[in-house]
Amino acid sequence: MADYNVIVIGAGPAGYVAAIRCAQLGMKTACIDKWMSPDGKPSLGGTCLNVGCIPSKALLDSSHHYYFMQKQASTHGIQCEGLSIDVAAMQARKNEVVKTLTKGIAGLFKKNKVTFLEGTAHLAANKQVEVTAHDGSQQTVSADNILIATGSVSSQIPVAPTDDKLIVDSTGALAFDSVPKRLGVIGTGAIGLELGSVWNRLGSQVTILEALPDFIATADRKIAAAAQREMKKQGLNIHLGANVTSATVSNDEVTVTYQDKKGEQQLVVDKLIVAVGRKPNTEGLGAAGIGIQIDERGFIEVDKYRQTSIQDIYAVGDVIGGPMLAHKGSEEGVMVAERLVGQKSEMSYETVPWVIYTHPEIAWVGKTEEQLKAAGVEYKVGQFPFAAIGRARAHGDISGMVRIIADAKTDSLLGVHIFGISASELIAEAVVAMEFESSAEDLARTIHAHPTLAEAVHEAALGVEGRMIHA
Ligand code: FAD
Ligand code: NAD
Repeated sequence: MADYNVIVIGAGPAGYVAAIRCAQLGMKTACIDKWMSPDGKPSLGGTCLNVGCIPSKALLDSSHHYYFMQKQASTHGIQCEGLSIDVAAMQARKNEVVKTLTKGIAGLFKKNKVTFLEGTAHLAANKQVEVTAHDGSQQTVSADNILIATGSVSSQIPVAPTDDKLIVDSTGALAFDSVPKRLGVIGTGAIGLELGSVWNRLGSQVTILEALPDFIATADRKIAAAAQREMKKQGLNIHLGANVTSATVSNDEVTVTYQDKKGEQQLVVDKLIVAVGRKPNTEGLGAAGIGIQIDERGFIEVDKYRQTSIQDIYAVGDVIGGPMLAHKGSEEGVMVAERLVGQKSEMSYETVPWVIYTHPEIAWVGKTEEQLKAAGVEYKVGQFPFAAIGRARAHGDISGMVRIIADAKTDSLLGVHIFGISASELIAEAVVAMEFESSAEDLARTIHAHPTLAEAVHEAALGVEGRMIHA
C-alpha cells in the first residue's frame, strides 16, 4: 500500500490549493516543497507568495501611497510637508506581509491535515518520490496519485545576463534597498509594468524597452492605448520595437544597447530589470526520467484533465503553460483533486481573468475585438468612461473606461475590458456574468449600487444597445 493517496510536489498557489482540496475530500495527502525564506525556514506559497503576486502588490500599494501624497493629496485639500521614503521600512513591511501569509498556509495545512515534507522532490519509478531535505537527509515516499505543481522561474536572455546586483530579475527588483536614480526594464509584460511603476512612483527615472511594436499586445487595443498614454503621463518612458542586443556593467552602471526604427541606441542606467517572461521549472524533478512527456519549450504535457503521459501523475499551474497566473493554477489543482474522487469538475479557461496592477489597473476577461475580427465573429461594443462616474470623480481617479463586447446576434458577453481604478475588483462581476453565459442585457438590467465604480460596467452594458444614461 502506498504511503499517501496523493503527493503534491510544489506548494505554490497551484500545489497548496490542490493539496488542501485533496485533504478536504478525504485523501491522505502530502505536499513537498523546497522553498526557504531568507532566514532559512521553509516558506510555503511558491513564487506567488514569496517573490511574486504578494510582495509586488505590497510594494505597489506602498509606492502608490507615496505617489498619492506627493502628487494628488493636495487636490483633496491635504498638504504634507517633509514627505520622504524609508525604503528599508517599506521592504520590512513587504517582508512581514509575505511572512504572515506563508505562515498562514502552514496553518491551513495543519488544519486540513496535509502532511508537509520539506525538501526537493525527485520522481522515481512506480510513483515513488525521493525527498532530499535542506539538511541533506533523505526519504522516499509513495502515493497512488502524484500531482506536479513545480511552477516556473524567470527567463533569462543571453544578451542581458542577470548578476543579482545591477542586472536583476523580478526577485531582485522586489528587494532593492534604495531607489535607483535611473532604472531600465526589459519587457512591458505585467512584471515590467508593475515593478517599473513601483520604482517610478518612488522617484526612479524609468525606461522600459519592449521588443514588440504593440503595447500589451494581448490586451484590447483601445484599452492598451489609453493605458500607454496614462503611463507616459506618470513618467514611464516606454520604447516599443526596441530589441536589446547587449547589456554590460562597468563603473556601477549598466549600458544597454538596443535596436529600434532609428538604428542602434544606448541607455545607461543604475539598475536593469530583465522581465521577459518565465519558464517552466522541472529542473532536478526527474520527470523525463520516468517517461513524462515534456514539450520543446519545457512545459509538462497534459490532457484536458491535467493527466500527464503517465497514468495517475498529473500536472497543474505554470509548469504546464497556458496563462501563468496564480488563480489559473489554483483552479486546475481543485479540478484535479475533485476528479480524483469521481466528481465531474471542469475548468473554464474561457473565463480566466487577467489583471495588470498598474494605477489605474488593467483587467480583462474573454475575447478582444481584434481576436473576434480575426475569427470573423460579428459583435457590438459598449464603452463608458470613468470620467462620467460620480464615485470615480469623488475619488479623484477618472482615467480609463469599461468596454463590453457582445455577440451581434445573440447579445451574449464575449469580452469585458477595463482600464480604471479598481479594475481588478470590477472584473469579477464580468467573470461571473460570462461564467453564467449572461447577455449584455442581463448586465444592463442588473441593479448596481450608487455611487459605485461598478456603475461604469452597468453603463457600458447599456451602451451595447446604445442606451447609456450618463453619456
Ligand atoms: P509556483 O508558485 O512557482 O510554485 C512552485 C513551487 O514548487 C515552489 O514553491 C517551488 O519551491 C516548488 N518546487 C519546484 N520544484 C520542486 C521540487 N523538485 N521539489 C520540491 N518543490 C519544488 N500571478 C497572478 O495571478 N497575479 C499576480 O498579481 C501575479 N504577480 C506576479 C508578480 C511577480 C513578480 C511574479 C514573478 C509572478 C507573478 N504572478 C502573478 C505569477 C504567479 O506567481 C504564478 O503564476 C504562480 O505562482 C504559479 O503558481 P504555481 O503553483 O504553478 O508555481
Ligand atoms: P510576459 O511574457 O508577460 O512579458 C514579457 C515581455 O517581454 C513581452 O512583452 C515580450 O515581448 C518582452 N520581451 C521578451 N524578450 C525581450 C527582449 N529581448 N527585448 C525586449 N523585450 C522583450 O512576462 P513577465 O512580465 O516577465 O511575466 C512573467 C509571467 O508572470 C507572465 O506569464 C505573467 O502572466 C505572470 N505575472 C502576472 C502578473 C499579474 O497577473 N498581474 C504579474 C506579474 C507576472
